[in-house]
Amino acid sequence: MMCSWRCALRLESVNRVIHLRTQEEIDVIARGGKIIANLLAEIAPRVVPGVSTADLDIFCDEYILSHDGAVPVFKGLYGFPGSVCTSVNEEVVHGIPSPSRILASGDIVSVDVGVRLAAWCSDSAWTFLVGEVDDAVHGLLEITEKALGVAIEAAKPGNHVGDIGAAVIATVEGKSYAIVRDLVGHGVGREVHEEPQIPNIGRPGHGPLLREGMVLAIEPMLSAGSPEIRTLDDGWTVITADKALSAHFEHTVAVTAQGPKVLTTLESSFHTVSTTTTTTA
Ligand code: MG
Ligand code: MG
Repeated sequence: MMCSWRCALRLESVNRVIHLRTQEEIDVIARGGKIIANLLAEIAPRVVPGVSTADLDIFCDEYILSHDGAVPVFKGLYGFPGSVCTSVNEEVVHGIPSPSRILASGDIVSVDVGVRLAAWCSDSAWTFLVGEVDDAVHGLLEITEKALGVAIEAAKPGNHVGDIGAAVIATVEGKSYAIVRDLVGHGVGREVHEEPQIPNIGRPGHGPLLREGMVLAIEPMLSAGSPEIRTLDDGWTVITADKALSAHFEHTVAVTAQGPKVLTTLESSFHTVSTTTTTTA
């Protein structure tokens, strides 16, 4: 079986060191994060019917490489062929960009971007609507983005990793969506996937203690149907088992004494993500 982000994380968890980063290191991660934030803003108007996922990949690749010293970190990572992951509709994560995957009105597509700049990584993903999309689909994206926002709020010193997952659960509870439990967020640093794992389910006060200097990729993934997933024969693309639509939002966040600091936004502010940002094409 080809390796996925998932099994890579399992292998890595043999080494359970959770690194703490200096302010200078966090500043470099934020510089890479800003490239991703600008890229996702540039991508938004390009996610339209008739565009292929390879078109998006080429745009992202050229955009990242146009910044001195920045490289698309997913390219070649565990053998992944694209520069970014483009996951359409029932695809949860790790969709391989393809010239034959043409986006149509009514689709949704998540674009997951990793950048390495000056030896430090950052990681962010956004799900975009393509053309005219049903109201129910808007709801899936809104709740997933909201889950990201509350999960980020929980990423402060003194809390535990379980508080992040608990925040996702509290946001999704009572809604007709399921949390994809078998995929997790992660620490980010010199490698794009480091300890600790950040599950999207959890119990308050449980799991590793969050400490100032941790840098975490927080990334809730929701399904409009079953939470179960499976990997396609390409060895990469993870889909919902029942082919229900899936949405994915991700930010890289530093745990600081002042609270969670989002490093993959244009503002790099201490505030959480807005719920009114560009989810429409
Ligand atoms: Mg990502
Ligand atoms: Mg990630």
